[in-house]
Order: sequence, then C-alpha cells, then structure tokens
Amino acid sequence: MSDPTNDSRAMAGSTRRDFLTHGVLAACAVPVLGAVGPFVHVRGRQEHDLVVRGGTVYDGLGGAGRELDLAIRDGRVQVMGARLATRGREEIDARGLVVAPGFVDIHSHGDGNLREDPRAESVIRQGITTMVVGADGSSRFSGAEGKSFVDWERDLTAIEPAVNVASMIGLGSVRGAVVGEVDRKATADELTRMVAMVERALREGACGTSTGLEYTPGAFATPDELIALCRPLSAWGLPYATHMRNEDDRLLEAIDESIAVARGAGCPLQVSHLKQQGTRNWPKLNASLARLREARAAGVDAWFDVYPYEAYQTGLSNLFPVWARDGGDAAFLARLDEPATAARIKREALAKVELIGGWDNVQIARVSNAADRDAEGKRLGAWARARGNDPYDAAVGLLRRNQVDVGMLGFAMSEDNIDKLLAHEYGMVCSDGGGFAIDGPTRRGSPHPRGAGTMPRVLGRFVRERRALSLADAIHKMTARPADRVHLRDRGRLAEGMAGDVVVFDAATVTDRADFANPFQYPVGINAVIVNGAVAVRDGQHLANRGRAVRAG
Ligand SMILES: [Zn+2]
Repeated sequence: MSDPTNDSRAMAGSTRRDFLTHGVLAACAVPVLGAVGPFVHVRGRQEHDLVVRGGTVYDGLGGAGRELDLAIRDGRVQVMGARLATRGREEIDARGLVVAPGFVDIHSHGDGNLREDPRAESVIRQGITTMVVGADGSSRFSGAEGKSFVDWERDLTAIEPAVNVASMIGLGSVRGAVVGEVDRKATADELTRMVAMVERALREGACGTSTGLEYTPGAFATPDELIALCRPLSAWGLPYATHMRNEDDRLLEAIDESIAVARGAGCPLQVSHLKQQGTRNWPKLNASLARLREARAAGVDAWFDVYPYEAYQTGLSNLFPVWARDGGDAAFLARLDEPATAARIKREALAKVELIGGWDNVQIARVSNAADRDAEGKRLGAWARARGNDPYDAAVGLLRRNQVDVGMLGFAMSEDNIDKLLAHEYGMVCSDGGGFAIDGPTRRGSPHPRGAGTMPRVLGRFVRERRALSLADAIHKMTARPADRVHLRDRGRLAEGMAGDVVVFDAATVTDRADFANPFQYPVGINAVIVNGAVAVRDGQHLANRGRAVRAG
C-alpha cells in the first residue's frame, strides 16, 4: 500500500512541467473507465483524469465557498483555480452546485456488511468517502480471533470497498480477547498484554481507542484500566473515543468519568454521539457542554460528535442492566429463569423503558429468528398488544428466541438539543450508522435511517430548514474537523496535494429520504461522489469501488 503522506509531499515539490508530462503519460497509460453513461469524455490532449468545473468550492476549513475549478490526477487534487485551462478525461459541470471534501464519518458501523456487499451504497451515496470504524469498543482486529491491524487492512484491501475505512482499536474487543466476558478486574499481567495490543495497533495505523461502556465486556473496565489502556495515545495525540457508561440519568457522571480518563491518560477526548436520553434529562444539555468547557480549561482536548436523529439504535438487551449480562448471553438468559433475579432485572428494565417514555418508544430494528420477522419495524408496545402479550414478556420472549440478538431503536432525544449540539463549537457530525443497500443481501430488518441519511439530513433539515448552523460550518464539521481529530492528514480538505475525495451537491435540494418507516431510501441532491480521484457515484448511479484502508498519519 502506498503511503499517501509521501505522495502528497512529492506532489507539493513537483514542478508544473513534471506535472504536465506525467499528466500526458498517465492519460495514455490508464484506460478510460468502462461505464460510459453520464461521463463527459473529452477528446484531444487531456492533462487530468478529472476536472470539476465552476462549482462553489468549500475547502472544509469553515470559510465561505469560492467559485473554482478543481483538477484531479493520480488520485489527488493537483490544481485548484478559477477557470482552469487544463482539460480532464472526464469533466463534471458543477455550476450552481457545492463542491466539498468527501465527508468523513468519525463514528460508523458501516463496515459490518462490507464483506457481503462492498458497495456500501447507503454510505457512499450520502457523500461519505471515509468512515472511521472500530467504534463503541468493538474493532475487527485485536479481538479474540487474534487478527492484527495489518491483517484487517489486508482483508479490507481484498474486499475493495466503495469508501475509505480507518479504524480505532476497540477496548471492549481487547478486554474480550484477554480477560473474557466476565466482570472482574484485569490482573497486572492481563493489563500488560492489553496495553501491548493497544501500542501495536497504534503503531500500525489505528486512529484512536474506543469504548462502549454500556456494552459487555467493555463495561467491566474500571476507569483505572481505561487510563492505562489510553496512555499510549498521548504520544500520538490520538483520541480516546467513548460511548459513555450512561447517556440518561447518570449522563453527567459519565461525562466526568470520560474526562477523568482522558486527563489521566494525557490524550484527547472524543465523546461519541453525545445525547441526553429521556425527557427528564433533556435539560442536562447545558451542563454537559459546561463540563467539556471546564475540561478544556483544565487542559483536556475535548470534543464530541452527534447524529441528527431523535432515536438511537442499540441491542434490545441494552434495556437490561449490565450486571444481568455478566458472563455473556447464555448467562443473561439463565438469570431470566431464576425467579428472584428475574424480578430484579424486570424492575430495572421497566425503569429504563419508562425513562424513554414507554414501550411504544421502542421499535424493533432487527431479529435473527425468522419466525419473529413481523416484529421488525414495529413499535414493541403495539406489536405486543396486537398479540395479546405484555410488552415486557414480549421483549423477553424475543431475546430468548433470538439468543439475545435483537436490535432496537429508542425514541428518546430532543431535536432542539440536536440543533444546539450540531451548532456547538466542539461538535462534529457522525452517523453511528450501518452500511446497506436497497437491493441485495444487506436489505434486511428495519435499520436506523441514519445509515442512509445522516449527512444529507444535516444539510437539508438542520442547515436549510431549521437554520441550526451555516452550510460552511456543517461542511467543516463533516470534513476537516473529524479528519483532523483522527489524523487523516490528507483528507477532509480540498487543497492542492490532498486526496481526491470530493462530493458535489445541490445546497437547495440536498436532503435525506430514509426514515423510520422505510430506511431503504437513498438521499437526493447529491450529484457526484469522488473517491481517491475516481467517480464513485454520478447522477444517481453507483459506478466504482475505489476505497481502501487508511491509516492515521
Ligand atoms: Zn455507540
């Protein structure tokens, strides 16, 4: 795999003459891409692979757009300027449209289906060109299967995904591999082994650590253990990203813990998908942000990301207390059979459901047992009542029949709070979404629409309709800001020498279509998406998979 950082340095040092010579050679050597369709193929001497003309270019740094042309060759932006004379083998007429860096999704689960469908259509069609995975404490390396970051990178290269993929190292995966599924303190020897795994992954290119402290086994880590595991980050300046221990009644305590870990480890903090769950916790918005402000004043480099929806997605088992899940799924199901324990579990689960407003604020996203398929997309309360069941019993029944593998959405957040989080100076956008397609094997269940709508929804609903933030600020929070946090040095900005990751969209019409009733709808108003210098999406057609694994630099 070539080192993009070196490429860009080489480019910055090359002369205009070299550049033209290489351009002609490249144009001769590289065959014209197969699909003809909507491309404009230019005859005669073409100096660039692709020229995007006449659009309003936002460079990602937050300033106003400027009318510029952008010429791409060998996967990189080579020249930007007004009315460039150069010609491209392909050209995109972007007059009247916005040209922005490809979006960088700093908290994504979009890699989960890549092996089945590397097109990742719901991701790429939003204009996302790089997704940061390994979120919520779970990475596809450094886990029980013994795979390293480099092994993961090799697998991803073989898959040929549509988008670039960076990954954090999941501390839940690390704990699962070394300590197991159990709730106990790590021994000194286990801690040494876990730290070594983190150090190795960071050396190999992981872009931070992540935790999911509401999930097992990640939840069994103490703050001291987390500090030890995050200490290697300080030398790299990479973040500790955390799905915190609590996002409702103990939200503020959870923020305090996150700050204490980052301070103890001497590393930057990224609070993942910051939210206030349950109407009684909505007023904690200001206190949440004040804590981050105080942390900064005390020297912690603290940031957060947020997704633009009032519902979250998680496992149905997450409505049940962490102690009940100690030891894994089989142990959890066994506890539901012990009357005294089951009564205590029920009390705590019902309190959690009441907090988010009742069983009709729980929607079943996914089951694994075919006989329960009709529950997908339904509100649990209504679904249970229609069958003459008590909703709690129905939930437990689903968990039993599906070996705990049931996905849910919880409608629990305030859209006014989302306005303020998106607009906040420490904020940035994430999807937290999965990757799927409206056709093929990944169309299943009723997933959260964020997997197909996040970025266009911010631009349509929150910029254009709700005026929560400006277009330039929204673009910044989807591009340069997240790229900067995870050290994707040559992405997230449009400038000469940067990666040719570009999205072209219509600011007047761009919006999401996926919703909770039908998530299988792609957004509108995204005219073209370019990944590593190649057109991946154009006029509603997905044309090429040009993504690859990318490392923190
Ligand atoms: Zn999460």
